[in-house]
Amino acid sequence: MSVDEVDAVYYLIAARLCVSLLMCMKRRAEGTSSDYVDVSFNDAAALLRDMIEINPLAMQNRLRAACQLPEISADSQNQMIGKRAEILGRNLSVSYKKPITIVRGAMQYLLDDAGETYLDCVNNVCHVGHAHPRIVRAMTRQMATLNTNTRYLHNSILQYAERLSATMPESLSVCFFVNSGSEANDLALRMARSFTDRRKIAVLDGAYHGHTHSIIELSPYKYEGRGGAGQVESTVKLDMPDTFRGRYRSAHQNPAAAYVADIERYLHRVAETNEKPAAFFAESLLGCGGQIIPPEGYLKEAFALMRSHGVVSVADEVQVGFGRVGSHFWGCDKHDALRVFVTLGKPIGNVHPLAAVVTTPEIADAFANGMEYFNTFGGNPVSCTIGLTVLDIIEEEGLQEHALEVGRYLKEQLSEIIHRLIGDICGAGLFLGVELVRDMETLEPATVEAATIKNMLRNERILISTDGPCENVLKIKPPIVFSRKNADQLLSALNRAFQAL
Ligand code: PMP
Repeated sequence: MSVDEVDAVYYLIAARLCVSLLMCMKRRAEGTSSDYVDVSFNDAAALLRDMIEINPLAMQNRLRAACQLPEISADSQNQMIGKRAEILGRNLSVSYKKPITIVRGAMQYLLDDAGETYLDCVNNVCHVGHAHPRIVRAMTRQMATLNTNTRYLHNSILQYAERLSATMPESLSVCFFVNSGSEANDLALRMARSFTDRRKIAVLDGAYHGHTHSIIELSPYKYEGRGGAGQVESTVKLDMPDTFRGRYRSAHQNPAAAYVADIERYLHRVAETNEKPAAFFAESLLGCGGQIIPPEGYLKEAFALMRSHGVVSVADEVQVGFGRVGSHFWGCDKHDALRVFVTLGKPIGNVHPLAAVVTTPEIADAFANGMEYFNTFGGNPVSCTIGLTVLDIIEEEGLQEHALEVGRYLKEQLSEIIHRLIGDICGAGLFLGVELVRDMETLEPATVEAATIKNMLRNERILISTDGPCENVLKIKPPIVFSRKNADQLLSALNRAFQAL
């Protein structure tokens, strides 16, 4: 056998299974099926699903070894790391003590160049699954047909804008398409400032809204972190509504009202000096803040209060939108909070660089002051086709309900893990966090232990990350096709890691 023949075996098996399934489905549809045709259907379907978890490289190398052919070797990581430092910006980071060279993705799995398969418990950008075949097909078809810009008429952008705004409250009916979450927030910022003719912007402590110059200034997570330049005069930082570690905790009789009362005092104070902010940027669940759900009533009241002072609210749904929270399609709707802007990114294009700002006609009209809004890539037919396909998949595959069910199960089971370091289990749906502390009285963050657990899991080929202002929150936000079986895999690995600490 030649190397090419051996390497094709994995794909030939998969193709053969697909042929069996298709033949069977065709015969069923025609009403001409028989026991003989039907007998292998379930097994073939199950094996095909199992094959998603098998890294083709692992099979190729086993077959090559059996045929005494040279095996495929992984690239030298040291060489790659050295080269990155030489030819790429020095402040790129690499995850895990032992880095991973990923060469393929398949739904909730990532495959490396050494034949290993990793369970991805953290990549919320690849929302409906890595390399989802429907997205790949829709994208390549549109790419092979046409990709232009918004200066020509094309139906895809209209269909997409209609579909997207139909998922939101009626007032949010005008879309602007951009290419990243940072760009979406930057555009919302520009529109908010020109609409209100004010400069100051209120944000939550610990927030991250993006990497551009203007948005770093709105991201305490960065400007107060390593290398940060500190807070600029036009940014106003409000308390993070964290009932575990924040100013008002769960023992307080009404933490939401207490946080809102602080905002009210601030607004009254600045009203006297005419320094009210233009906008209030907030995530509906705080991502970099540590997977925190604001207490019930907080976001609704805070947005309403801001509105009564002429401050526009920007709900950053870049991390949590598109059904991830399970109970609702948008994080903000979980809080029943009325917003003036929604900014979207990450999952919107299932890793294709697509992002959006959705706002009210009033704001959009005020922005149309004569200057053209043009964005070379924003809203192109390929991006819009992908965006539409993401919405189709979430709907047709019932992924929001799936996130609710698996997320609820995972959160319940996480709460069953008993360990002295576990301080809090936070989040909703498939956006969860486990906050680790050394002491429940002082809440001293268990930062080193969190990193250790993350790396232990990585060595078991389960990928999570750590975050939060103290880097002590284990972050779980997988592609939402993540299954109950995957949840069990993660839970047993976590149990083992906690026991080994
Ligand atoms: N908003 C939030 C809440 C984010 O988490 C991020 C990215 N982590 C952004 C905005 C910026 O998105 P991007 O990296 O696509 O610019």
